[in-house]
Amino acid sequence: MNGTASVLVGTPVVPGAGYGPVIRPGARPVASTRGADLPEADREAEKARFRAAAEAVSDRLSGRAAAAQGAGAEVLRATAALAADRGWLGAATGLIGAGSGAESAAASATDQFVAVFTKMGGLMAERVTDLLDICDRVVAELLGLPEPGIPTPTAPSVLLAHDLAPADTAGLDPDLVLGIATTLGGPTSHTAIIARQLGIPCVVGVAGLDEIDTGTRVLVDGAAGRVEVEPAVEQAEAAVAGAAELRRRTESWAGPGRTRDGHRVAVLANVQDGAGARAAATTAAEGVGLFRTELAFLDRDVEPSVDEQARIYREVFDAFPGRKVVVRTLDAGSDKPLRFAGFADEPNPALGVRGYRLAAEHPGMLERQLDAIARAARESEASVRVMAPMIATVAEAAQFAAAARARGLVPGVMVEVPAAALLADRLLEHVDFLSLGTNDLTQYTMAADRLSAPLAALSDPWQPAVLALVARTATDGQRAGKAVGVCGEAAADPLLACVLTGFGVTSLSMAATAVAATGSALADVDLDRCRRAAEATLDAPDPQSARRRAADILQG
Ligand code: PEP
Ligand code: MG
Repeated sequence: MNGTASVLVGTPVVPGAGYGPVIRPGARPVASTRGADLPEADREAEKARFRAAAEAVSDRLSGRAAAAQGAGAEVLRATAALAADRGWLGAATGLIGAGSGAESAAASATDQFVAVFTKMGGLMAERVTDLLDICDRVVAELLGLPEPGIPTPTAPSVLLAHDLAPADTAGLDPDLVLGIATTLGGPTSHTAIIARQLGIPCVVGVAGLDEIDTGTRVLVDGAAGRVEVEPAVEQAEAAVAGAAELRRRTESWAGPGRTRDGHRVAVLANVQDGAGARAAATTAAEGVGLFRTELAFLDRDVEPSVDEQARIYREVFDAFPGRKVVVRTLDAGSDKPLRFAGFADEPNPALGVRGYRLAAEHPGMLERQLDAIARAARESEASVRVMAPMIATVAEAAQFAAAARARGLVPGVMVEVPAAALLADRLLEHVDFLSLGTNDLTQYTMAADRLSAPLAALSDPWQPAVLALVARTATDGQRAGKAVGVCGEAAADPLLACVLTGFGVTSLSMAATAVAATGSALADVDLDRCRRAAEATLDAPDPQSARRRAADILQG
């Protein structure tokens, strides 16, 4: 593709504009598929050569993790751990013991693990990209080739890729990578999460990127979800300047959340531990709309005692004295396996025993968690509420509400399953508030695994069917005079946040890094426009039209 300006369209995930020459990840090394004919006498030395290469890769990634921050550091640490994984190393050295060369042993061991992870689905399937990436790095190390992955740009550039390995994305320098576009990936993919944290404009799910040559100048518009090839230079520079100006205005937003004409919508942060809560407290977030407690315990083999849990919850509450903090009880299972909340070996874990359903499998676990939350709440000055994930029936909501109220806690439930949205009015007879988890609500409404790259177009909260369920839930909340918030990634999309407000949601909770962009987008529009935009999305034929219609009304 060259010369003529053309526009490719995808899913916008991080607003902003980046313009520059295209760079691409380097080619992956090819492991030789030589047969298992290594002489017996050489096998121990070959094992040592393999272990040294794996260790070098693991150390290098750990070093980068130490220099990175937040989600980026976590991803690098997790990938470094994979390079030191005993199961994988054992499988490869076993193959070398049987006569394979180190490179082909690494590739064959990886193939075995990829097959198992893919079968397991959920979070494990998502680790396939990480594992393939590790294998490539180890093979390159063995072959004495440069490290595969993203080249360090010599000048500010735009990164285009089919997909990005988390370890690559986490190490990006926002001063040198001005924009990212990928063929695969959805709004909740690793690429999106890390690009958001680094503040790099990003569009995912873009078809046609493969045809753009390295070095071609492109403009990535992360707000509109467009990749423009060879745009006029003045026009591209104006777009970048406009986006930078918008970012400056955004960053100065100090809250509280309200539309231009003063309609209040609380803008809150999603957190997972005390450190995250303290970081969120430095932004204009008015409180915490979702404390994902399960993420604080992913590394535990044994359920923490009530005392220890109370200490951990207290850290989060203490970051927001006098403010609202909504704690979610353990949402274990499926893509968030917790070892102590063991999950059954199910063929379809996303539709299995997860979230609130685990309470029946683990008698006393929910009650102990509620005891710990209640104790921490009594000892802190935060205004604590508690909610249960994955509620599908009125009976579950009633049961949870009774258990929470018995401990003096204010109960709510998440609306993540279409059944809950359809019965929102009846759930509200038992609980004080609802919180729409649009990530799972989208997954279950569209019957599209939220981690599936090929289904990214379905996994879009702008899908009119998802918006219809949101609208219905918000209306039920207004009728009952009770709060209905949104705490999925949808709240982090400034345009969608205005639409959600138009539907009548009362709070928006998101990654702390997205708070200012959402808050300032709301401050720019009147409630009436939000309502008209919301209405206009409902009969849109597809997510792109819904977005366009909302943008025309809100920005027109
Ligand atoms: C959601 O499903 O939208 C949600 C907020 O929960 P999680 O992303 O933790 O599943
Ligand atoms: Mg969820």
